Order: sequence, then C-alpha cells, then structure tokens
Amino acid sequence: MNVHDSEKVIGTLRERGYLQKATAEEAGLVLYNTCSIRDKAEQKVFNKLQNFKKGAAKSGQVFGVLGCVAQQEGEKIFDRAPHVSLVVGSASYTKFPELLVQIEQGERRVTGLSLDVDEAFDTPYTRRDNPYRAFVTIIEGCDKACSYCVVPFTRGPERSRTADSVIDEVRRLADLGYSEITLLGQNVNSYRDPSPKGWDFATCLERVGQVKGIRRVRFTTSHPRDFTKAIVEAIDATPTLCNHIHLPVQSGSDRVLTGMQRLYTREQYLERIGWMKAAKRPMTITTDIIVGFPGETDEDIDDTLGLLDEVQFDAIFNFKYSQRPNTPALGMGDHIPEEEKGRRHMKVQERQRMIQIQNNANYVGDTYEVHVEFFNLATGQWVGKTTQHKTVNFSHPSGQAANLLGQYVDVLVMRAGPVSLVGEAA
Ligand code: SF4
Repeated sequence: MNVHDSEKVIGTLRERGYLQKATAEEAGLVLYNTCSIRDKAEQKVFNKLQNFKKGAAKSGQVFGVLGCVAQQEGEKIFDRAPHVSLVVGSASYTKFPELLVQIEQGERRVTGLSLDVDEAFDTPYTRRDNPYRAFVTIIEGCDKACSYCVVPFTRGPERSRTADSVIDEVRRLADLGYSEITLLGQNVNSYRDPSPKGWDFATCLERVGQVKGIRRVRFTTSHPRDFTKAIVEAIDATPTLCNHIHLPVQSGSDRVLTGMQRLYTREQYLERIGWMKAAKRPMTITTDIIVGFPGETDEDIDDTLGLLDEVQFDAIFNFKYSQRPNTPALGMGDHIPEEEKGRRHMKVQERQRMIQIQNNANYVGDTYEVHVEFFNLATGQWVGKTTQHKTVNFSHPSGQAANLLGQYVDVLVMRAGPVSLVGEAA
C-alpha cells in the first residue's frame, strides 16, 4: 500500500509540474514515505531524516515525511528533525495537493494529520513505473482492532471506493496495456461498494477479473473473520483470478488469537482453509505469523507449528512481535525477551522451510505460465511468477536478448528449492 501511495503522490506532483530526480541530493523537495508497522522501520525513518539534514542546511532543500510514522509521531517530528517542513499522515493524502500549495507559498511547518476522512485517496494522476502490473486501491483504513497493530491509528477507519470507479480504473489500465492487477486494502474482504450497487468483495473481484485485457488479478490483504466462501467460489469460476490466497493467521493458538483480538478461532481459520482445499482449481495458500506476542508460551508455539503442518502453507511471512505505541498489547505485560523471540522465529522458519521444500518439489516436471518481471544479470535467467505466486527463475535460448519483460511464457520446471523454482522456457 505504501508503494502505491507513493505512486499516487508522485503522480500528483508531476501533474503540478514537478520533475522527478534520480537521487534525493538533486531534488529541491524530498518526500519520505514511511511505515510504522514494526519498530525497526520507524527507527530507520529518523536515521534517514538525520542523513537528510546536511542538504537542508546547504541548499535549502525542503523535506516532508509522509505515511504512518508521520501520522503516529505528528508534530513531534518537527522536534526530532527540525529541518522537516511537511508532515502528512496516510489518512490525509486526499488533502495533499492543498498542503503542497502551502509549502510552495513558503510556509515552514505544514501538517495533514486528520483521521476524519470519508473518502479513499483516488487520483487520476497515479504514476506507475511498472508498465505491466498495477496496484489498484479498493478500500483504505481498517475497522478491526488487533491489539498489536497501529494501522487503525495511522490509516483511519475503513472507506471503500465505488465499484464504478474501481472498474473504470481497471479498464483504463487494461487499455494502457496492463494485464495484471493487484487489488489493495488493509482488509479487502470487508470491501463494500458505497454506491447503490452495493457489491461485496467477491463480486468486485469477479467483475475486475472480467475486464477485457486483464489476465491476472491478485488481492492483498485478507482478514479471516471477513473471508467468505464466495471469494473462493469466485476464484474457482474465474480463470483470470489468480489461484493464490494470502490469509494471515498470526498464531495457531486460540489463547494468543484471543489476546491479539483477531476475532476468529483456529477452528474457524481452518474452516476457511478447508474451502480453499476443496476448490476445483488447486490454490496456493500463504500466511503471516507473529511470534513472541506477550504471554505466548512454548505450548502456543507448538500450536502454531502444528498449524503449519496441518495447512502446509506455500509460504509464510514470519515476524517477531514488536511493541507499537497506542496499542492495547503494549500494556499486557509478560513481554517475551528478544532472544527468546529469535529462538521461536527460527523454529517456525525451520519447520516452514521443510514444508516448502516438499511443496515446491511437486512442481518439478510440469509446465507453468510465468509472468516475466525482470532479467537477473547475475544468474543469466529471467524471473517471474506463476498464477500461484511461485517465483520461477528460467533460462531462454536467446538469454536477455529474448526481451521477455511483461510477457507470459510457458516454463518447464526442472528443479525446486524452498523459495523458488528453476526451469527452462518450454
Ligand atoms: S486487520 Fe488487524 S492487523 Fe490488519 S490492519 Fe486491521 S488492525 Fe491491523
């Protein structure tokens, strides 16, 4: 979502006549888009701002901080980094053009930190650098209250775009030659078209998949509480919808899920996995896991490991819990020492690695359509993704000269590792 926010901000700036420079040093205005999902990311922001300081002193560069750290820290950023002039939270991007005018008029301290937005940041000026794959926001903000998460504080309440504006944007992208769309939202499953049409997420997904010229549709991210069987049915019935579902579980322990305020049980999560496994099109399933949540015991980690064995995920994003300001988990006490979090993280990674080695071995000997993303000069191979979101490195008789960027190529898989597949253009 941050990458796509930056695309929208860049588009807005270009529309106002700004030119993009290759490096921050060359620019008169430097905007730094930030993430505060983990503590480390936030520390990086202040280190980076410190690096920018010289530029401000030397050449009068103007600095702005955008995104979740801006929302979270607000005007405190001016104290810690006095050379910053603009602080705009992710929920206030709709006001970005008018805040820019204030900066252009020479105002020294400008903020956009309001959370009372009632519309999504939808702009016709989005500047996309990838000409084949495009992000399309369908919903912003989040109405859940997971006890470890800062997003409801930094991105504000949920607001969905109208189905018409989503479909119009996808049609425009298809006309421009984009063939792969990723629908974005903090919780896309709770999408609800605010127009009288009232589409739910499954309908929206299906209709996007029916737009002429679109070959692949992905979405991220989902919440198990709002994930419906209709979504699986839509994927089953619509070949353009990628057969990969990312459904963050966070923990395999009901006790921890309750502490996290995730609003579902392990059993309910597994029920959703059952829908995916019963689908006619085989689907890959990936998830997010947090280890070291306050009060998590060895038994809880065993429950998580057991869940990995039961579901056989194709990939996981495994994070160590990190304390975030304003979140209920902060006051829960019983915090797990960093070293122990590291041990649990490793345990989960090791178990998952074995599962991925077995899963990926099933792909060897078959041919898959790969959407090509780039050429890896170091290996001399093209790299892309299957509809199942498997990364494939493959060779082609013409090597780089084949110019396959953005194309869909059939690849015979010859080998498999824990994180990717290796093959040859068929
Ligand atoms: S669903 Fe939970 S984890 Fe996801 S953005 Fe909302 S509050 Fe955060």
